[in-house]
Amino acid sequence: MTNEKKPFITLEQAQAIMADVPTPFHIYDEKAIRENARRVQQAFAWNPGYKEYFAVKATPNPYLLKILQEEGCGVDCSSYTELQLSEACDFRGRDIMFSSNETPAEDMRKAWDLQAVINLDDLTHVDFLERVAGIPPVISCRYNPGGVFELGNGIMDNPGDSKYGMTEDQMAEAYTRLLQKGAKEFGIHAFLASNTVTDDYYPELAGVLFRLAVRLHEKTGAHIGFINLSGGVGIPYQPGQRANDIFAIGEGVRKQYEDILVPAGMGDVAIYTEMGRYMLGPYGALVTTAIHEKHIYKEYIGVDACAANLMRPAMYGAYHHITVLGKETAPADHVYDIVGGLCENNDKFAIDRALPKIDRGDVLFIHDTGAHGFSMGYNYNGKLRSAEVLLHEDGSHELIRRAETPADYFATLDCTPFYKKMGF
Ligand SMILES: *Cc1c(COP(=O)(O)O)cnc(C)c1O
Repeated sequence: MTNEKKPFITLEQAQAIMADVPTPFHIYDEKAIRENARRVQQAFAWNPGYKEYFAVKATPNPYLLKILQEEGCGVDCSSYTELQLSEACDFRGRDIMFSSNETPAEDMRKAWDLQAVINLDDLTHVDFLERVAGIPPVISCRYNPGGVFELGNGIMDNPGDSKYGMTEDQMAEAYTRLLQKGAKEFGIHAFLASNTVTDDYYPELAGVLFRLAVRLHEKTGAHIGFINLSGGVGIPYQPGQRANDIFAIGEGVRKQYEDILVPAGMGDVAIYTEMGRYMLGPYGALVTTAIHEKHIYKEYIGVDACAANLMRPAMYGAYHHITVLGKETAPADHVYDIVGGLCENNDKFAIDRALPKIDRGDVLFIHDTGAHGFSMGYNYNGKLRSAEVLLHEDGSHELIRRAETPADYFATLDCTPFYKKMGF
């Protein structure tokens, strides 16, 4: 399964939306989101308790959370405001996973109030949780195996260097203490590698966690109710790159389940996932207009979006494919840096990218911004966050978040005399 990076809107559709919502904006493809969510559900349908808890941090928009809710998903939160947003979307109780770390007391209390499933990041959080809220009947603990996590295609990530989770001994101690304090059902969670474009990640992780579950059950007697494979399933940002096969992934996890959990008499364990990127990444795009061209030592196209609207290229050097709408079939016979207006030279959506000739006014479709796109936005240089638009299945569009205005940017100065002088 490769992908050819076809935009999900045409130039004509973009222009119709722009008559309503000026660029830049992020746009999301409802039809594709639903189809993908259904494939995910099918891939894990062998496990009766399966649930995907969408990682809210990836794309915290209530309209998108509601779509995923309709497709049977819950939410994974890690902060007070993510819990508030989920509450506003009528997620409650077991529909919410609270996978936080370095958790403030008020966040923990909020999770408790919503009866979310709390996933403890550290052994010391057993006492912390008891002190600030109480010990719930259902509780999860996050595991860190240490060392390096290797997959068939090389070293993927370095859990030994990561701040998350507990050692195996600490997991056992946490379970024992939680049992003494009245907890009844236990979960195991781990996130060991990010943006894995291989079908082996979840199955390998499942093997590690299933064996751990058997050992923890034997050691502590705790009833393991669920195992949470968390996020980390990747998407192909590059054209021609192989895409993950979610059915192969689901099947790989099923094999480990049959090999490890079933023989141990633990065939009732529910599988949970907390995917963000895989659920929405490919189904969002940043639409931006070319507003300047510049010819110095290199060729530059300046657009009306900047890294404040999509940080991944500046932050990680991440590749995002770009299509010039209306020039989909034109030869890519120009080489450009596509840049935003921040006073930071890393504000480049693309460097030395072969593209068709771009003229001022051309509309660029920056692919795969549906997760960790808008949400990583910031206000450096006084740049404002963009609007978000939902493309419905019937082709109509809906504004699901307006763009920020200067009044939003200055709102936290309303405690000062300068605010009034700005005329708000
Ligand atoms: C970020 C995060 C996720 C989602 O990760 P993706 O790479 O978007 O799938 C899931 N769970 C936790 C705890 C996270 O921090």
